[in-house]
Amino acid sequence: MLDFASLLVAIGFATAFLAAILLAAWKTTRRDGFLFSCAVGTLLVAVSVGFSTVDSIDPSWWAQGLGLGLLLAGEASLYGSAAQFRLGTSPGPRIILATVISVVPVLLSLFAGYNGLAYSVSYAGSAALLLLVAHQFWLARAEAPMTATGIAALYFLVGLSFLPRAVLVLTRDGLITAGPPRNWAQDLSLILIIGAIPALGAMTMALSQIRTAHAHRREALTDSLTGLMNRRALFDTHDVSIPPYCVAILFDIDEFKAINDTHGHAMGDRVIALFAKALKLDLPADASAARIGGEEFALILRDIGVDEALRLADAVRRRFIDLAASEVGLPCTASAGLAASGPLGMRTDRILADADRALYEAKRAGRNRVMVGRPSQLPAQASAPTDMGNIGG
Ligand code: GH3
Ligand code: MG
Ligand code: MG
Repeated sequence: MLDFASLLVAIGFATAFLAAILLAAWKTTRRDGFLFSCAVGTLLVAVSVGFSTVDSIDPSWWAQGLGLGLLLAGEASLYGSAAQFRLGTSPGPRIILATVISVVPVLLSLFAGYNGLAYSVSYAGSAALLLLVAHQFWLARAEAPMTATGIAALYFLVGLSFLPRAVLVLTRDGLITAGPPRNWAQDLSLILIIGAIPALGAMTMALSQIRTAHAHRREALTDSLTGLMNRRALFDTHDVSIPPYCVAILFDIDEFKAINDTHGHAMGDRVIALFAKALKLDLPADASAARIGGEEFALILRDIGVDEALRLADAVRRRFIDLAASEVGLPCTASAGLAASGPLGMRTDRILADADRALYEAKRAGRNRVMVGRPSQLPAQASAPTDMGNIGG
């Protein structure tokens, strides 16, 4: 038999240090709230282990109650933290509910004088809570498959190890015991926990790092004013070529400098954001929409004919006029140039150059219109003179 109190002391120190590290990690980034609730949960477990150690040396109802109750509260916090990681919701309600549901039966058993039952019920509660934690990380595995699955597996194993403990207390010691139960299941579970703590700590930190790296990448590829892709994201997505039967559309707000000069830069920014709003409404799910310059936007549509793309671009143009009139009371318009990749696909720089030429034509023809570029590139039904594919004005 291993020395029970020594195992508990080892777990107490390991969890206390882990709580400190998690708290420090949360304080540096302040980004991942789940690290904070995880640190709180780990700290509660560390304190509970302190009381359980006292209970193992000199059994008493208060040390047992505090040891078991705080352990369940700590595990409930770990559950809240896991759900917070997955859903981004506040962990408070989950933590309170899980704590109440798991602690009340333990306290009732203790007050009734059945301390053996209290151990059993708390171990069963621990198993349930840790399996719930495992379930949350399992559901969140899409974000970081290896790490989240590893965490889920460890919580699952530790949770499972509490089940034989819950059964053996009742079958070997009965409803009333002289102190904490001693059996193989207790030792096995505690050894497993000692091994799991550093691994769980390292993987939880890794998970936070992975999330931060994802967030930085998202920010680097997103235009902050409009929430659309930025130029880099567009060229990352379509780095070399555009597939066959795609259409690229370039939009440019008309006389935008005058808006800036007359109404100020802040109003200019609002108009840019309004254009993005008009662009985003009713977009096909697989479209790439980007702000590629000050008041210039690109839209790449897949598997679409030129006529349908023209209609879509013109709908954006009209929506922008309406939105600008209703939301900022300004008569704003935009022009667009459109080019198709044809049956063979096209190099990204070439299709954008074609669309840009069409946009230039639209500006020259008086602005506030959509024009189709490079008729030679288009399918037979659209191979008309450039201004026959022209809508708007
Ligand atoms: P045109 O009809 O020919 O397109 O005329 P325009 O005035 O829109 O043309 P131009 O491209 O010269 O004007 C773009 C202006 O957009 C110039 C620049 O000061 C302004 N701009 C660029 N980025 C931003 C931005 O982020 N916010 C605001 N408010 N203005 C910007
Ligand atoms: Mg421009
Ligand atoms: Mg412009």
